[in-house]
Amino acid sequence: MFFRQLFDPDSSTYTYLLADRLAAEAILIDPVFEQLERDALLIEELGFRLVTALDTHVHADHLTASGALRLRLGCSTVISERAGSICEDRLVKHGDPIAFGRHALEVRETPGHTNGCISYVCHEAKCVFTGDALLIWACGRTDFQQGDAATLFRSVHEQLFSLPAEYTVYPAHDYKGRTASSIDEEMRLNPRLGAHRTLTDFVRVMDELKLPYPRKMDLAVPANLECGLPKRGNAAGPVVDTSWAPIELTAAGVPELSPAAAAELGTKALIVDVREPDEFSGELGHVPGAELVPLGTLSSGALFWPQNRPLVAVCRSGGRSAKAALQLAQLGFSRVASVRGGMLAWREQKLPLEYGSSVNSATGQQW
Ligand code: FE
Repeated sequence: MFFRQLFDPDSSTYTYLLADRLAAEAILIDPVFEQLERDALLIEELGFRLVTALDTHVHADHLTASGALRLRLGCSTVISERAGSICEDRLVKHGDPIAFGRHALEVRETPGHTNGCISYVCHEAKCVFTGDALLIWACGRTDFQQGDAATLFRSVHEQLFSLPAEYTVYPAHDYKGRTASSIDEEMRLNPRLGAHRTLTDFVRVMDELKLPYPRKMDLAVPANLECGLPKRGNAAGPVVDTSWAPIELTAAGVPELSPAAAAELGTKALIVDVREPDEFSGELGHVPGAELVPLGTLSSGALFWPQNRPLVAVCRSGGRSAKAALQLAQLGFSRVASVRGGMLAWREQKLPLEYGSSVNSATGQQW
């Protein structure tokens, strides 16, 4: 079995890549949104196909990459049925198996840090991925997200300390540079939960922690209930702002700009070329500084753009860019436009051109 522990320094989160080398099927436990590129490239370079992205719980300190990985690599997403997530492909409960090739993980419910915490046990590799239920000589806090110290104490003792002593403990975080521990070590040395600590001791210790409110909690929890995809749009439907440039709305409601008006915007707007890569590098050329995001990949490309940045879509003649502008409005971008007449009109008006292929600045992907 392939195994790799990965680290996000900003949130001190560990992500775990496991794979069946023969079947080339991989899973990723607790992926971090900011590390999407690193993880996707690693999986691709290793020749694996990501089948599942799993979360141990709804994180409060960082965004999960599960939804973005699903868009990019076509994997399914998994979390506990008690986590309250509204976007997952599969909600799991105690005892459920998670298969990848010839291998499998067993789900153990370990609530207490949050009510939807689960641990994933790999009996074959003699290890357990504990999320924040059990950290190295520590544990996750129990003062938010329906956390409860007594519940966590029982989870750790009944579901984790019942595993064979030699099993390795892989947590979701460590803040002191340690990478792993073992059930034996935690039972003997965990100052909160190990040795002769009683439930009453533990509840008192947790009550007295008085930790600060997590920096990213208000952003992370709602987003993670939707697989980490930034919330866009609003209930009233798409809103198109026409005040930021000389926009004209077509009869179909498409916000359009003339090529000259688009050229005048310069770097104030991001020019999104929604043609295919061979057209982008072809004889018509492209707008200098344009980012290539073919129409079919627009919703995943848009993940990386700040919502208030003006976006101007361009294609060959204006058909695909009109669709793109409407799609972007649906995704919650209000300052969007399509270049009327596309690159054909742009060329006719002798506006600046650039030739060659492009590097997508957001994803680093060479098209
Ligand atoms: Fe957590």
